[in-house]
Amino acid sequence: MRLLSKLWRGFIGLFYPRTCPVCGDILLDTPSERCLCMSCRADLQRPLSPKSAHILLEDRLEGNLDFEHAVCAYYFQKDSVVQKLVHQLKYHGREDIGEMLGRDLGRVLLESGKFVDVDCIVPVPLHKKKLRKRGYNQCEAIARGISEITGWEIERDALVRKIYNESQTTMSGEQRWENSAGIFSLDLPNKIAGKNVLVVDDIITTGATMASCCAELSKAQDVRLFVASVACTC
Ligand SMILES: [Zn+2]
Repeated sequence: MRLLSKLWRGFIGLFYPRTCPVCGDILLDTPSERCLCMSCRADLQRPLSPKSAHILLEDRLEGNLDFEHAVCAYYFQKDSVVQKLVHQLKYHGREDIGEMLGRDLGRVLLESGKFVDVDCIVPVPLHKKKLRKRGYNQCEAIARGISEITGWEIERDALVRKIYNESQTTMSGEQRWENSAGIFSLDLPNKIAGKNVLVVDDIITTGATMASCCAELSKAQDVRLFVASVACTC
């Protein structure tokens, strides 16, 4: 059966070859080019080391929320490979890209050695209206990739986004903080009580959404919060 499905995929590939979502080149049928070509992967990893990205992110969040450790895999820059990938993930239905970025992030989390106590992953939730429109939560796709590498379970139901807020991309820092305050609700606190929770977002800009998320999650008893995002702006 596996051989048949492999042959079928090869046959389909003759007419509709899979292409790299960043440069458009035809992808090789190898695990290393599952959804990104080797050349774009090199560009994705080139800009700056994840180590300095950790420091930048922890500095940004420090003082605004209570967390144990924070980490991100990449820097988010205009026209960068990561920007193009996140765009495909959010607006073109490419959940597989979210899973790939999640696996990258999962490896960074394990390599840092600071997240060994994590019990579960809480993806930043979407409002149900937005979820209906997009069809999936991109942060959940990232969480699936992390879970694939780390084995941590995903907790989807504890936290909900109760207020629908407009896209924050054109807002100033101050507006983002105002727009994000009190938008989440911890509906099932027992699901995360006593646990070490990793909160996952796609991109962290000012940290306002993450701060709002963590403020709500910290209402659960004896909860410790860890933060991870695929990328943060520099
Ligand atoms: Zn490419």
